[in-house]
Amino acid sequence: MSTAAPASALPSYDDVIARYEPVIGLETHVELGTVSKMFCGCATAFGAEPNTQVCPVCLGLPGSLPVVNEAAVRFAVLIGLALHCDIAPWCRFARKNYFYPDMPKNFQISQYDEPLCTDGYLDVEVDGEIHRVGITRVHMEEDTGKSLHVGGSTGRIHGATHSLVDYNRAGIPLVEIVTEPDVRSPEVARAYVDELRELIRALGVSDVRMEQGSLRCDANVSLRRRPAPGEPDAPFGTRTETKNLNSLRSVERAVRYEISRQSVLLDDGERIIQETRHFDESVGRTSSGRSKEEATDYRYFPEPDLTPLALSAEYVDELRASLPELPAARRVRLIAEHGYSARDLVDMRNAGVLDLVEQTVAAGAANPVAARKWWLNELARRAADAAVAPADLVITPADVARITVLIAGGELTDALARKVIDGVLAGEGTPDEVVSGRGLAIVADDGALTAAVDAAIAGAPDIAEKVRGGKLNAVGPLVGAVMKAMKGQADPAGIRALLLERLGVS
Ligand SMILES: [Zn+2]
Repeated sequence: MSTAAPASALPSYDDVIARYEPVIGLETHVELGTVSKMFCGCATAFGAEPNTQVCPVCLGLPGSLPVVNEAAVRFAVLIGLALHCDIAPWCRFARKNYFYPDMPKNFQISQYDEPLCTDGYLDVEVDGEIHRVGITRVHMEEDTGKSLHVGGSTGRIHGATHSLVDYNRAGIPLVEIVTEPDVRSPEVARAYVDELRELIRALGVSDVRMEQGSLRCDANVSLRRRPAPGEPDAPFGTRTETKNLNSLRSVERAVRYEISRQSVLLDDGERIIQETRHFDESVGRTSSGRSKEEATDYRYFPEPDLTPLALSAEYVDELRASLPELPAARRVRLIAEHGYSARDLVDMRNAGVLDLVEQTVAAGAANPVAARKWWLNELARRAADAAVAPADLVITPADVARITVLIAGGELTDALARKVIDGVLAGEGTPDEVVSGRGLAIVADDGALTAAVDAAIAGAPDIAEKVRGGKLNAVGPLVGAVMKAMKGQADPAGIRALLLERLGVS
């Protein structure tokens, strides 16, 4: 008798959710896109040779003194305002003391009990339902350097023969955005990070590239038993913090895994240990990190080398007035103005063409639907084939707008338009230059077209007879024959009309 395969180690997710309510809070670190670092003039460009973007301040050498980067403060305030936060009129930086090799000063300049921005929210939509996620605080801090463990097979410290430290990242300005424990599902957790990323991208204050670590997310997850009817909510359970999730998919998977893992422990009557955990993307599981420090372990105290930040109401009001259109408002506008569906917007955003479509409409496209169609179908595919972003294609929104106008005016068919795109991408000039250079315009010469139509009728007398007899749909093969004779440079609708006219049935 064969042995049945063991059941999955984890209970079904639906079963867990029926008994426990997940309580999720998210902490997101965003590297700000300033030209120089938070407290010194060193460059912040990604990918430079190790330890080439350092100075006495960001290396923490004795006697060096930090100076606050005004652009970083401005960017942080913009984020706070876009998240509906209160902006503190006066606040201080604090030293967070701990030892770690990639932190040259042995403390990190952060903010503790006086954060720059507090009490905001972000609305997140999942399947047409809005979830409001409270923002506890947005505070400023500096990034740490990076350790590289050499000699082992995994790149981890275990098995390495030695470690190298790159301080280029040390001192790059960060904001940390902390939510209330308002999130109740892995899907909303993912959507929150997605929406936050779009918001920050729209503000232009970070490139928010999760794969390069300029936006990374920690997920705090705990479970509590769902109350029986009439019972009050149970208190929050003990939480774990899964660190450094660097893709939207990882956020959702890690939270989902933690929910299942904790449910098994609680079902067995065990306690959840408050600790940080690491998510291994290759196996989809979290593993134990270090036990979580309490705030008192860090011996926070006000940073004595920096003056407090005291932002005037005028400064904050100016920044508030300068906020660009934010993603949620933009979606509402695009749906109202251009007739797109919510799904269209998701598709365009995922394909990286939303801005391009909007620019194409602004450049005078025949209509918004055509602008969407050409970018989303044809040009996104060509960009993927060429392994570039759609925005990096040689063709411009103005070119695409012109092509849609030529199609709408009956001067190009879709098939000819694709050849025009070939020409523009090959550097042959504007759409009009390609049309004349390649001779792609629809032949509007009635003489040539009429001759081809008459030849097609003469070549298929049986079909011609059927059409004359009233079966108008039988005309298809004749249209095809004329298109072939015209080498595609004719408008099928016009050919059909001309055929019916010559057959005396129009
Ligand atoms: Zn420096």
